[in-house]
Amino acid sequence: MDFQFGEKEEQFRLEIREFVKENLPKGFIGNMFEEEHTDENWAFAMSIAQKLAKKKWLTISWPKEYGGMGASTWQKVVFAQEAGYWGIPGIGMGVSGTAWVGPSLMLFGTKEQQEKYIPLIAAGDPDGVWCTGYSEPDSGSDLASLQTTAKRVGDNYIINGQKVWTSCAHKARYIWLACRTQQNTEKKHQGLSLIIVDMKSKGLTLNPLKNFMGGHVFNELFFDDVKVPVENLVGVENNGWSQLMTALSFERGLALSAGGACVRILDELVEYAKETDRIDDPFVRQSLADLAIDIETLQILSFESAWKEDQKKIVIYEPSRDKALCDQLLEKVSRVGSDILGVYSQMDIMNKDPRWSKLKGSVEHVYYYCIGLAIAAGTTDTQRNIIANFGLQLPRSY
Ligand SMILES: Cc1cc2nc3c(=O)[nH]c(=O)nc-3n(C[C@H](O)[C@H](O)[C@H](O)COP(=O)(O)OP(=O)(O)OC[C@H]3O[C@@H](n4cnc5c(N)ncnc54)[C@H](O)[C@@H]3O)c2cc1C
Repeated sequence: MDFQFGEKEEQFRLEIREFVKENLPKGFIGNMFEEEHTDENWAFAMSIAQKLAKKKWLTISWPKEYGGMGASTWQKVVFAQEAGYWGIPGIGMGVSGTAWVGPSLMLFGTKEQQEKYIPLIAAGDPDGVWCTGYSEPDSGSDLASLQTTAKRVGDNYIINGQKVWTSCAHKARYIWLACRTQQNTEKKHQGLSLIIVDMKSKGLTLNPLKNFMGGHVFNELFFDDVKVPVENLVGVENNGWSQLMTALSFERGLALSAGGACVRILDELVEYAKETDRIDDPFVRQSLADLAIDIETLQILSFESAWKEDQKKIVIYEPSRDKALCDQLLEKVSRVGSDILGVYSQMDIMNKDPRWSKLKGSVEHVYYYCIGLAIAAGTTDTQRNIIANFGLQLPRSY
């Protein structure tokens, strides 16, 4: 096995760094989870998304015929690493569209759906921003129990129900909605469908859910007799579960960029320790070395997942393995970072008072966001269940 990237990939890495230098303010530390928090962050992220789109980097992994770059697996890996390392904005905000809606439409969408939605996503257009409607007040980990209904009436579906934790819904033009199209099925994962809904539809009400830092990322959505044309059904009616699982495995493949973000914080912590007396503490040196081992492990495993995909091998539990490891790693980065920085690690609070912060608040940001990230796209426990069932063929515990 060759662990080196080739010349082409290293050249591409330099090109990305050049883009960062030219387009991001000096010393910029992006945080892909904050792009929705303020209009200013959003506008900046959108402007970068459009620049990335021009280079086809926004949809780097998409085939050329869909407006992507058609990049090699290893170019994708390098891009994800660099995007995470530099916190390139514009990727997180449209992530539903670029990472799972677009690729799912390529697999299951009609030609008309592909022609209508895919170019908007690839262009970084405001109408190409999507949100994802899976979770409900009583359905999270047990997603198959969802209760939002879409009833066929003539040429339309009439949708009723409630979704919650819908990230980015207040910025999105469309929602990728999981709903029940058949009642009283033998098993709960039967009778589900995926439907595209215009966020401007009559009967759709949005209620913002601010987080404990005052940031607006989440929303709850109420569907009261929302009328959607039947051509917005994605794939086969009542067969939504398998499509949902495919879309979720795309969503869980984001460990590479999180790994890049961890490398950046490790580099900064090493630098900080060297510049201060923290380096004299053997515990600090040990913790940094320990972190380096875990970061490298995540990177090697996510390289393996990318390689398997490239070889067209079926990846069943690998995205869950990488996500579970990533969840734990982010928590560890925040713990080690907080130990090293001490009280300074708590001094940024969403850039409200950055005077005393160190490393531009990056440790504090990971500290807050690692909790949510370990829940989003399925909790770490859910990933363990998938690995137990599909990786180790153990019986289901629920
Ligand atoms: C940052 C963030 C962004 C999100 N964005 C979206 C979005 O855009 N769209 C969307 O639809 N949803 C979104 N969500 C919601 C997310 O998908 C759910 O929160 C998640 O699936 C967990 O569901 P729950 O909150 O209902 O927790 P529950 O399912 O009630 O779980 C509670 C606890 O019980 C554990 N648990 C539950 N079942 C099992 C089991 N069988 N075995 C072992 N342990 C179990 C869980 O691990 C967890 O610790 C987001 C969440 C976060 C944090």
